[in-house]
Amino acid sequence: MIVIPQHIIFGIIEQAKNELPNEACGLLVGKGMEVIKQYSLTNVDHSPEHFSFDPKEQFGVLREARKEGWEILANYHSHPESPARPSEEDIRLAFDPNIIYIILSLQDKDNPVIKAFSIQNGKVVEIVIAGSLDFCHCGLDPQSQDVR
Ligand SMILES: [Zn+2]
Repeated sequence: MIVIPQHIIFGIIEQAKNELPNEACGLLVGKGMEVIKQYSLTNVDHSPEHFSFDPKEQFGVLREARKEGWEILANYHSHPESPARPSEEDIRLAFDPNIIYIILSLQDKDNPVIKAFSIQNGKVVEIVIAGSLDFCHCGLDPQSQDVR
């Protein structure tokens, strides 16, 4: 399981829509199973069918994460015209068994689909994505008014 706050999921969808027709990509860092921060990275391939991180940006994320005591939990990329599952190329290039691979499909632009996978030696296993409450975005908690 990986826990991704709702505002980060929205952030990934927004980035992916902004970068159409190309694939968008980035990294999710956090602690344990919980994602704390999203980093949008430049897809230096500028392609609708594959992506590569900008190595300099990737290094910057690593450095900042290390400083904060976070780890890279997942990388993500979008599939502008195909389903939310790893392509053959995604599987072939998935060389890190400790990271979670997240794919956002914009095949149906009005209903983006986001899925997470672990990929080990070419074997793909889907991982559950759990949402977490975004306390920073909460207004009044409706229940708190009744508790006296
Ligand atoms: Zn892909």
